[in-house]
Amino acid sequence: MAILRVEALMKDYAAGGRATRAVDSVNFTVEPGEFITFVGPSGCGKSTLLHILGGFIPKTSGRILLNGREITGPGPDRGMVFQEPALFPWRTVEDNVTWALEVSGAPRAGRRLVAGRYLEMVNLERFRHHYPHQLSGGMKQRVALARVLAFDPQILLMDEPFGALDAQTRELMQEELNTVWQRTRKTVLFVTHDIDEAVYLADRVVVFTAWPGTIKEIVTIDIPRPRAIEIKKSPVYAELRNRIWDSLRHEVLKSRGEGGSVYGVSSGAAGGEARA
Ligand code: ADP
Repeated sequence: MAILRVEALMKDYAAGGRATRAVDSVNFTVEPGEFITFVGPSGCGKSTLLHILGGFIPKTSGRILLNGREITGPGPDRGMVFQEPALFPWRTVEDNVTWALEVSGAPRAGRRLVAGRYLEMVNLERFRHHYPHQLSGGMKQRVALARVLAFDPQILLMDEPFGALDAQTRELMQEELNTVWQRTRKTVLFVTHDIDEAVYLADRVVVFTAWPGTIKEIVTIDIPRPRAIEIKKSPVYAELRNRIWDSLRHEVLKSRGEGGSVYGVSSGAAGGEARA
């Protein structure tokens, strides 16, 4: 059975006395343990979709079923990682990771074990007694990932988690996330601007149309796992990346024609990173 089922999801924002449709007629299902990435022109509603799934903003209409039960607000079954890691600056790395367990009343010894397990998974065990200001951007994001994994949600929602990192760190983080996924087999929904990242990480890539966002197509990434970063040099990878870029390019041009915010394509390379 699908772990997540999204049916006819629609979202209107009320702004300046007018309704803006951000997401329209979105339908998809996710199987347990799948890694799904979402790409689409800037402003097409990817982040809105993820926040609705997290229960942080209300939908206008449609249904979201998690394990067959409709969700209407946030819950411990879903964990979210944002572009900015938002760690508690006054807490150590370990105490950041165990925060949710502490709130739920778990004993200290158990919390330390859980922190150790996930900090080891993201290669930060040596830094458990450091404070966030002593860490690089990539390290902070790894703490945020360990923190969300520590409360063991069924679904990880990741909203451009590597968007603020430099290119090299980003690539390392992608590899690390793939390894973490391989070990935990969490169901992941991951929004990104970066087509390379979307293909490398995903079992399926969901391509959104220009505003208002709806699903244009879902592309299966039939590349065996585990995936070393070197697969980015393979012909099958290039083919998939180019195919998604062709699909997206059309939407980007459409959104540009409508005067919305659009991607700027880096260095003219098909499938390169594209940013607003
Ligand atoms: P994406 O993540 O694909 O860049 P968003 O989900 O952030 O897109 O935004 C989708 C659309 O909804 C955009 O047109 C954006 O301006 C609008 N929007 C997002 N948040 C709000 C809000 N709080 N109030 C009004 N409009 C919003």
